[in-house]
Formats: sequence, structure tokens, C-alpha cells
Amino acid sequence: MSARILDGKAIAARLRARLAERIATLTYKPGLVVVRVGDDPASGVYVRNKDKAAKDAGFDSRTIHLPAETTQQALLAQIAALNVDPSVDGILVQLPLPAQIDAQAAINAVDPAKDVDGFHPINAGRLASGQPGLVPCTPRGVMHLLAESGAPTRGVRAVVLGRSQIVGRPMAQLLLAADCTVTIAHSRTADLAAECARADILVAAVGRPEMVRGDWVKPGAVVLDVGINRLADGRLVGDVAYAECAERAAAITPVPGGVGPMTIACLLENTLDAALARRG
Ligand code: NDP
Repeated sequence: MSARILDGKAIAARLRARLAERIATLTYKPGLVVVRVGDDPASGVYVRNKDKAAKDAGFDSRTIHLPAETTQQALLAQIAALNVDPSVDGILVQLPLPAQIDAQAAINAVDPAKDVDGFHPINAGRLASGQPGLVPCTPRGVMHLLAESGAPTRGVRAVVLGRSQIVGRPMAQLLLAADCTVTIAHSRTADLAAECARADILVAAVGRPEMVRGDWVKPGAVVLDVGINRLADGRLVGDVAYAECAERAAAITPVPGGVGPMTIACLLENTLDAALARRG
């Protein structure tokens, strides 16, 4: 079998176009503010891409770039000001933050109604207890890709590799909400290959280049690769050995061009959701 490729670039472009159409019907531009602290070069690229995608779709997007030596107190004061600014619908604090700042304190300071990253414990708690709230962007993007695959979710086995707060855990919650039977595997899991081989839906979010081998994949499974790993030779690969796994899967996401583009599109989707919930 040769897998259908889930083209995240094209699917994200369609999602952004749908969001732009909905924004064009509003009497205001939903406001997104990205707060960046310091000069982490990768963050610079992400922040520029987010800003461009947001502006292109019709959002009122801006970036607040604070110096690397910003104190935690100053960052929290900045977030507090954005929380009460009525023109701001979504606040994203770009991670990583410099060492003097406790990232969790910054996340906790964002008004949950404007927490478009979906990282605030209130939103994580809502997701875990099946209540509506803002959902982390990458897992939300994976659910869109899964829907595009056309594969059923009810009653099927899903395995999530990775248990981070930003990907693995919320991913598992979303799959559970979609009626999958969910297993979360991690670095202490006894037999990863055996767990994966049972998966009708396999999501890899570990940050280990090409760790998932072809013979770990159940024939006909949907394989969604969240990993982004830069090899010594400069190539970008996922957590899944793509060519081998594509031989067995029914559908698979490439890296790059799979889950990655969906993350920004879902940030915009979250910002529109936050704006509509707040402003009616
Ligand atoms: P974290 O490092 O926070 O978490 C990695 C998880 O993988 C942990 O739960 C860890 O287990 C598990 N893990 C690590 N090594 C192994 C192993 N050998 N076997 C089994 N499990 C293992 O990473 P993130 O969740 O933040 O990100 C995961 C990947 O996704 C990265 O490559 C990252 O770059 C990418 N990413 C991509 C995004 C996108 O937009 N496409 C967005 C966010 C992340 P344990 O808990 O036991 O330590």
C-alpha cells in the first residue's frame, strides 16, 4: 500500500481562506498580540510567520518585542495590560522565554479567554473535563488533518507518542473526545513498537528523528507526524521514518508540510473563536 499524503500546506491554506471569509463579515478585526522576549532566532522566524499569516487573513496582528533582560515582573505587567485591552482578543507569549522568567507564571498570567495557545491550566482543565475552551494549536491542527483523511475515529485505537503539555496530553484528550480508545506512550513505555503496531491512528510527538519505523505501523493506519527535527546535514525530518511508514499507512503527513502549517492556521482559528466568544 502507498499512503495518501495529507498535504498540511494546502489544508492550512484552505482553513486560512475560510477564516478570512468569516472575518470579512465582521465589523471589527480580531486582535492578536504576540509577546516575544529576547532574540531566540527560531522564535523570530515563527513570530514573523504568525504575524504575516494573521495580517493576510484580516486580523489586527501585532508583536511586542521585549529585550532579553526583561524581568518577570515587567512581562507580567505587560500581559496584565493586554488582558484588559478591549482591542486584544488573543495573547500569545512566544516560548522559550529567557531563563530569569518562569514560563508557567507567564502562561498562568494570560486571561484564559484570550489564551489562544490553549496552555492556561483553566483551558487545559476544560479540555480534560470535556468543556468548551481554547485548545492548543498543534493538536487542533492534527484533528483537522485526521478529519481530512476521512478515517473514522469512533471506537478505533489511537496511540499518542509523547506526553508534553503542549502536544501529547491535549492531543490525547482531543482523540478521546472523538471517541477513540487512547493510549499515551512516552520515554518510560516498555515496548513502543508493540503499542504503535496496535494503532489505527498514530500521532508521533517525541522530537526523535525518524524514531517510528515502518514495521511499527499497522497496515492501513493514519500516521500523523508532529516532530520537527533538524539533522546534522541540514535536512528537516519528523519523528516518523516517512518512506517506510508510507508503505504501510493509509494516510500520512509529510515533514515539512504536514502538521507544521496547521499550527499557525489553528492559532488564527483560536483567535477568531476567542473574539467571537468575547464580543458576541
Ligand atoms: P517535549 O520534549 O516536551 O516532549 C517529548 C515527549 O516525547 C515526552 O513526553 C517524552 O517522554 C517523549 N519521548 C522522548 N523521547 C522518547 C523516546 N525515545 N521514546 C518514547 N517517548 C519519548 O516535546 P514537544 O511535545 O514539545 O514536541 C515534540 C515534537 O514536536 C518536537 O519535535 C517538536 O519540535 C515538535 N513540535 C512541532 C510543532 C508543530 O507545529 N509541528 C509544535 C510543537 C512541537 P517523557 O515525558 O517520558 O520524557
